[in-house]
Amino acid sequence: MPVDPICKRRVPEDTQHFSNYGGKKYCFCSPECKTKFDDLEKSVIRLKRSIGEKERISFGKLRKEIIKPGICTLCGACAASCESITIEDSQPKLVDKCTACGVCYNQCPRTITTEEGLIGKIRNAYAARTGIKDLKGQDGAVVTSMLAYGLEEGLIDCAIVTVKSEEEPWKPVPIVATTYDELIESTGSIYSHSMTLEALMSAVKQGMRSIAFVGTSCNIDAVYKMQKSPYGFLHLFMRANILRLGLFCMDTFHYEGIREFVQSKGMRLEDIESMKIRKGMFEFQTDDELKVYELEELDQYRSSSCKFCTDLAAENADISFGGVGTPKDWTTVLARSGIGYEIFNEAVDSGYIESRLLEENEMKNVLNLAKMKKTQMYSVIRRQNL
Ligand SMILES: Cc1cc2nc3c(=O)[nH]c(=O)nc-3n(C[C@H](O)[C@H](O)[C@H](O)COP(=O)(O)OP(=O)(O)OC[C@H]3O[C@@H](n4cnc5c(N)ncnc54)[C@H](O)[C@@H]3O)c2cc1C
Ligand code: SF4
Ligand code: SF4
Ligand code: SF4
Repeated sequence: MPVDPICKRRVPEDTQHFSNYGGKKYCFCSPECKTKFDDLEKSVIRLKRSIGEKERISFGKLRKEIIKPGICTLCGACAASCESITIEDSQPKLVDKCTACGVCYNQCPRTITTEEGLIGKIRNAYAARTGIKDLKGQDGAVVTSMLAYGLEEGLIDCAIVTVKSEEEPWKPVPIVATTYDELIESTGSIYSHSMTLEALMSAVKQGMRSIAFVGTSCNIDAVYKMQKSPYGFLHLFMRANILRLGLFCMDTFHYEGIREFVQSKGMRLEDIESMKIRKGMFEFQTDDELKVYELEELDQYRSSSCKFCTDLAAENADISFGGVGTPKDWTTVLARSGIGYEIFNEAVDSGYIESRLLEENEMKNVLNLAKMKKTQMYSVIRRQNL
């Protein structure tokens, strides 16, 4: 005797209340149960239509990203929303045709399917580069140009930036910059943790009240918490205004580790002019050659905290900057808060920065990298290495 899928009562096969769905007959005890089921069916069809219009995603994607790596929680949402899926041997399995409607993937609590879920809230996304003659940065020198505009216009008293140590080349040293010359010294990325909060507290204690702070996602989180948490120093005692300029970040490495690696390749840190991580490769540029290595070769030197980090795009910043997405010598910019958006666009209007809207394919690259970072903790290989 069939079971009413709504109230779970047994009902006779020849009941007058039934529906055909997905090639199968469902029997009900009453018109109420049938209506409930039909409404549910309509919702699923509507959902399939709305998702299907955007992108075709099949069960294979759910299997590859969630089921195979073992992150499935066996909640049953996928099976509940599709007739072709059942849970067998403690795993969701495809037992019938998949029309690649994407419903199971989008329903799964373990997938991240929205732009906001991957890179946080943004107002606008840009590709930008400096408008200042002869200024060179890590990418488009946009961070430095925005700070230069802030200092020049008196919008900020100082900027917390990171420069290279004079005694130990490529060792990050956070400073309180109040001049354009100090800003120029800070251009470029140093791929080791910088203790930027020390310099920030020093600026606050010196009586600076409008401070621009540049840091990686985790640096930004520290400032954000100090500002927002009921126990935060900046929230409780020091009423400085802090503009948070976040840097996209996939990894940092121990300073001594980078030194050891560079030496093992027959180079000296003092001869390296710039470093860059791009497309899974670590690039070291000296004045006469560019040496490029697989990022994996530096795995043993990676900061342990970075394995647990899921924030590529400095989601708690007022404005975020990265190299991914845009062409060489351009910076990807995500304007988030009102103040971040305004100062960036004022710097553009004043000629400090040149900008255009980020194109769809450029944003796709940002989202792909953000996704890689969000799901890295799930990765079996990474877990084995922990
Ligand atoms: C450790 C690290 C990892 C990064 N990883 C990625 C990545 O995976 N993908 C990506 O797209 N972008 C990444 N970035 C961001 C990218 O390298 C550029 O910083 C960004 O695109 C801005 O470029 P720009 O030319 O506009 O900045 P510039 O005008 O050159 O200014 C650079 C700013 O970075 C600051 N800075 C340099 N090193 C540090 C540090 N260790 N800690 C805090 N602040 C620092 C300086 O103070 C300076 O203000 C990373 C940056 C860092 C520091
Ligand atoms: S809900 Fe069903 S038909 Fe749609 S993608 Fe998933 S398995 Fe395929
Ligand atoms: S919806 Fe996701 S977590 Fe839930 S059973 Fe299906 S695959 Fe597993
Ligand atoms: S990967 Fe995360 S934890 Fe590591 S330096 Fe970057 S923002 Fe900080």
